This record gives sequence, C-alpha cells and structure tokens, in this order.
Amino acid sequence: MKSYDVAVIGSGPGGYVAAIRCSQLGMKTAIIEKYSTLGGTCLNVGCIPSKALLASSHHYEEATKHFEDHGIDIPGEIKVNLEKMIGRKQAVVDQTTGGIDFLMKKNDIDVYEGLGSFKDTTHIKIEGKDAGEIEAKQIIIATGSKPSNLPFITLDKERVITSTEALKLKEIPKHMMVIGGGVIGLELGQVYRRLGAEVTVIEYMDRILPTMDAALSKELNKVFKKAKFNMMMSHKVQSVERKGDEVLIKAENKKGETVEVKGDYCLVSVGRRPYTDGLNLEAAGVKMNDKGQIETNAHLQTNVNNIYAIGDVVKGAMLAHKAEEEGVFVAETLAGQKPHINYNLIPGVVYTWPEVAAVGKTEEELKDAGIEYKAGQFPFRALGRARAGGDLDGFVKILADKTTDEVLGIHMIGARCADLIAEAVVAMEYRASAEDISRMSHAHPTYAEAMKEAA
Ligand code: FAD
Ligand code: NAD
Repeated sequence: MKSYDVAVIGSGPGGYVAAIRCSQLGMKTAIIEKYSTLGGTCLNVGCIPSKALLASSHHYEEATKHFEDHGIDIPGEIKVNLEKMIGRKQAVVDQTTGGIDFLMKKNDIDVYEGLGSFKDTTHIKIEGKDAGEIEAKQIIIATGSKPSNLPFITLDKERVITSTEALKLKEIPKHMMVIGGGVIGLELGQVYRRLGAEVTVIEYMDRILPTMDAALSKELNKVFKKAKFNMMMSHKVQSVERKGDEVLIKAENKKGETVEVKGDYCLVSVGRRPYTDGLNLEAAGVKMNDKGQIETNAHLQTNVNNIYAIGDVVKGAMLAHKAEEEGVFVAETLAGQKPHINYNLIPGVVYTWPEVAAVGKTEEELKDAGIEYKAGQFPFRALGRARAGGDLDGFVKILADKTTDEVLGIHMIGARCADLIAEAVVAMEYRASAEDISRMSHAHPTYAEAMKEAA
C-alpha cells in the first residue's frame, strides 16, 4: 500500500489547487477523482463550459443584432450551428482539463481514478479504474456539490434538466422555462435566449439574484425584459409535469392564484447541494451539519484532527475561486504556516451581458447592520468608451463608511465588470477610502473610469 503525507479526495478547483500547493510545500501528495477527467464541476460542467457557450452566443447576438449598427453588413442569413457550438465548448473543456493532467505530472502528484471512501481516519479505499487502498497522514475532502432539486420534481435529464444537460442540448429549445433566477438560470437562460429560444424565468423571491445588491437585480431585470425574457418573480413552483415533448409548470403567484406555463424544456436551477455520497464519512467519524455540509472550524479542519474539508462541500459561497483560496489555505496550514482568507472580499460575478460583479457588503446588509454609509453611483452610458463600444447599460455603485470614508462594498453591472471588479478587491484589501480611488489615475477612455467617478 502506498503512503502519502496528504491525500486529496476530489479534483475540482479546491482539490487540484490544494494538491499542487501541498506538493510545492514538500508534501508527498495523491489526488483521487471518480471521473476520468480532472477539474471537477468547474472545468467539466460548470464555469468553463458555461462561459464558452456565453461567449459563442454573445458573438451570434453581436452578429445578428449589432454589427449593422457598426456599418458591417453580412450578406445572407446568419445561422447557429448548435452542434458545432457545443463541440467547440467541449474542445475548450478538454483542453482545460488536459492542462490539469499536465499540472499533476509537473508537480509530482499521484492521480488515482476511482471513488474514494474512508476506511478509517488514515486509509482511503479506491473503487474504479485504479482500485486499491492508500494511506495518508492528512486528508483533504474536496468533493464539491451537485445540483439541488425540489422534492416534487422528477429530473428526467431530457426535458426537465439541470445545468449539466443544458450545456449539451441537441436543439435550441422553443421555450425554455427556468426555475430559479439565480446565477445558473440567468447565465444559461441568456445563452438560449440569444440563440432564439423564448425564455421564462420563474423565481420564488421578489427579484432575480436575491443575494446581491438590489440595485444590480433591478438593472439586470430591466435589461432582460428589454431582451424579451418573461420574468415571473414571487412565484412558487408547485408542480412540473412532462407530457411527451411538453413540460407543464404550475406555480402560485403572490395573490395565491395558480399560473400555468408550458414549454419544451425546463431548467431547474434552484441551487446546489454539498456532495458527500459514497465517502463513508462515518468510518472516519467526520461530522456534517444540518445543511449536509462537512462541519469545519476556522482552520477548515473537521472534528477529526487530520481531516480537512474545502470548497462547495463546506459552508460559504459555492464559487471556484473561494474553493481555490481554501485549497491553498489548508495546504499552507498543513505546512505549519499561518494563512488567512478574508471571506468578505471574495468577489461574486455573474457572466451575463451586461456582466454583474460585486465585493463586500450590499446596501441591504449595511442597513440591516445599522452601519451609516454614503453611496456614489456612476452610469456607464456617461463614459466615452461605453458610447464608442455601444455597451451603455449599467453602473458602478460604491458604498463607503459615512465617517471614515472606508469602502465597504462595490457593486457593478455593465460591460467587462467581471474584470473590473478586481480593482475593487485590491482597493478593499488595502482598506482604501472612496477618496483614495477617486484620486488614482484611471486610463481614459476606459470602463474603469466609472470606478473613479463613482468614488
Ligand atoms: P467540484 O468542482 O464540484 O469538484 C469536486 C470533485 O470531486 C468532482 O470532480 C467529483 O467528481 C469529485 N468527487 C466527489 N466525490 C468523490 C469521491 N468520493 N471520490 C473521488 N472523487 C469524488 N463558480 C465560479 O466561481 N465562477 C463561475 O463562473 C461558475 N460557473 C458555474 C457554472 C455552472 C453551470 C455550475 C454548475 C457551477 C459554476 N460555478 C462557478 C461553481 C463552481 O463550479 C464550484 O464552486 C466549484 O467547482 C467548486 O469546486 P470544488 O473543488 O469544491 O468542487
Ligand atoms: P443560486 O443560489 O444562485 O440561485 C437559485 C435561485 O433559485 C435563487 O434565486 C432562489 O431564490 C431560487 N429558488 C429557490 N427555490 C426556488 C423555488 N422553489 N422556486 C423558484 N425559485 C427558487 O443557485 P444556482 O443558480 O442553481 O447556482 C448554484 C451555485 O453555483 C451557486 O451557489 C453559484 O454560486 C454557483 N454558480 C456560480 C456562477 C458564477 O460564479 N458566475 C455561475 C453558475 C453557478
């Protein structure tokens, strides 16, 4: 039986980053992954494929709707070749997951393909291609998450689908109904809306992206309505029934009336749940909380001293970069260092167009906490660069402490905000005041000027 200093179970952005950092810090490391490709949800069926389809569908929309404004005439009809689009997405995924194979070899990490389960606190059984058993002094659980469902919905994965199937459809839906106006519903809803599907978003809360600053939800809702999405807020889905090629949703509105919606596809995107199936946590005595997350302390250590857990399977935002930070954090802790993560400064990004991005506290959170603040907002349409490019929607909103001027939250929606948010994170990491940002030179003409102006 092979012995390791560290074994990592799961090869998503939490697991593979943890393994690399452990190896860099001199620990003999193994990683166990049940699928044949590394990279987890993010690389295989999450961040990367969804961004590939968002990029392709964005090009199509530009060509069909906006090229003309720029004086570009395309003779003949512009058509979507969905098979090719999905094929390109898969090529991007394959190249990216192949990159992780390379990184494992480069960093001298042993990769085991198979389902890992605990035999006790230091032994892991592997079932699958590389069946066997390994021993490790320290174990990091990075088994991620799977789509959640509502108890009354049967996911047939053909017409009633999760994000995984929505990334590889064989046809453009005529009418895609999306249950849940969160990140997945809006990103994948936008992909198919751009490709020509009618899209209805059915959300339980009174606004889309309910955990983000309300000003962002309002602006994105406006843009989506302009793009002729059907937005049904404050609707509680009661049943989803498939009949042949048709799916019927019944939902209750605010007045208590039952509303029916029919379509040919229903995407269920109501969140994700931590994934621990098959891990046999009981054999090691690792405890979970009532949300099904692995319980950890401030060092991301479980109740068993030598077992740690990171990423989607523990508390906190289910984001790839949060999982990565935690991977590095645990590796450095195991090496005797004293790392730190500022969870308040993990940015959140929605890759729709306009892009939505935020870091720090929302206006609602500041109000609830009774913190006195001032707000500065600047619209992109007032910038020369936005007018030159033709992307006018959105704004940057900065919230700062009323007395100290320290920036407490930055919320933005508009072109390139996914990248612009990095400036906000740097500013807040160094505890900038709004005045600090406003006194820094921002290149002209850029979208980043909205940061300076809002500050
Ligand atoms: P995962 O990536 O879920 O990886 C866990 C791995 O563990 C999997 O490969 C699984 O097969 C393996 N595993 C589980 N159990 C075992 C076992 N017993 N033995 C062996 N292997 C096991 N986040 C962002 O930050 N930005 C985005 O743009 C973004 N887009 C997304 C789009 C979609 C459609 C989805 C679904 C998610 C998206 N996310 C995004 C979220 C992101 O994918 C997750 O937060 C991230 O992948 C979590 O990383 P992780 O390492 O914790 O787990
Ligand atoms: P989410 O939590 O973002 O959104 C779920 C939405 O469904 C919420 O708005 C919620 O109010 C709504 N909802 C819940 N129950 C409902 C019901 N019964 N009827 C109608 N609406 C209901 O979850 P998601 O979109 O499924 O994404 C899952 C996770 O994946 C998220 O935590 C997210 O962080 C991650 N993700 C991130 C990105 C990104 O960073 N760009 C992209 C995709 C996914």
